Amino acid sequence: MELAFDPAPIPVVEHPPEIQPDLSSYDAIVVAASGGKDSVSCLLACIENGAPLERIELWHHDVDGREGSALFDWPVTRSYVSALAKAFDLPLYFSWKQGGLEREMLRENARTAPISFQTPEGEIRSVGGVSGKLGTRLQFPQVSADLTTRFCSAYAKIDVSSAAICNQDRFLGKKTLFVTGERAQESSARARYKTFEPHRTDRRDGTRRNRHVDHWRPIHGWDERQVWEIIERHRVAPHPAYDAGFGRVSCMNCIFASPAQLSTILKFAPHKFMPIANYEKQFGKTIHRTLTVLERAAKGTPYEAANEYTMGRCLSEHFDEPIILEPGQWRLPAGAFGENAGPT
Ligand code: SF4
Repeated sequence: MELAFDPAPIPVVEHPPEIQPDLSSYDAIVVAASGGKDSVSCLLACIENGAPLERIELWHHDVDGREGSALFDWPVTRSYVSALAKAFDLPLYFSWKQGGLEREMLRENARTAPISFQTPEGEIRSVGGVSGKLGTRLQFPQVSADLTTRFCSAYAKIDVSSAAICNQDRFLGKKTLFVTGERAQESSARARYKTFEPHRTDRRDGTRRNRHVDHWRPIHGWDERQVWEIIERHRVAPHPAYDAGFGRVSCMNCIFASPAQLSTILKFAPHKFMPIANYEKQFGKTIHRTLTVLERAAKGTPYEAANEYTMGRCLSEHFDEPIILEPGQWRLPAGAFGENAGPT
């Protein structure tokens, strides 16, 4: 299996004993819900650990924004995450960088775009985008563990959630838990993340605009088997891309995509693939250090589980199926324990 990068061996990291925050002590528990298996596991881990359901909210960051770009994400993801929230009777708030990653990638002597987020009052608020340096990217996020050059994670997710916390007064004077699903097993960089720490928006000692925000990674020490086990225990239908053979689900056109993923997308969704290939030509710079996405797709073979039906479910904008399956119906998807072509 060829990867887009040379993964360093994952060092053995000494972890402190698992930290279990007192979930009942938080006013709000925000679970970052990409729709991938780790985010679903985080929600379920909160529930199994006794989090008061009425304090949990799901946040989904639209990597393509809401202004018409459809370059990176799976079409079904929004609907899948909405179905998940509905099944657990939880509020779901979307947030995004205006224009999504595509606009950020196409910056040419321009400022980064504003961030928009939904509020519990049903408003969409926008912040930023009016000051800051003019800059030019005209390239894809770099395949790197460094989040300043791999700008997709920072601009489409991390900064977006931070802006949504910092710009909602409902978090002031309150105690909030922000929950994300990074696991040590995924990469050496993620192995160094802390399981529990103050969130980057924490201002618990602030004299003005004081807010207490902790960051909890409840599945940081889990292996993939534990992830699928909790999903099976709750009989949650996984994101459709797992049934099509994908082992990791976040962006459809992830910069870390393997040849097999690229070849699957090229075969079943050329209309989603070719814009990426065309941008490589336009930028004169490939995502991979030497090969174009077309060359890399040619080196891979589409997943056996990918066919018109399984890929059709991923390419639909509607997830209309039961998300909590009947007893005995849950099956491990074809992509489970497959390639882990994802961020380092
Ligand atoms: S899934 Fe891939 S492309 Fe999308 S934000 Fe994460 S690293 Fe970037």
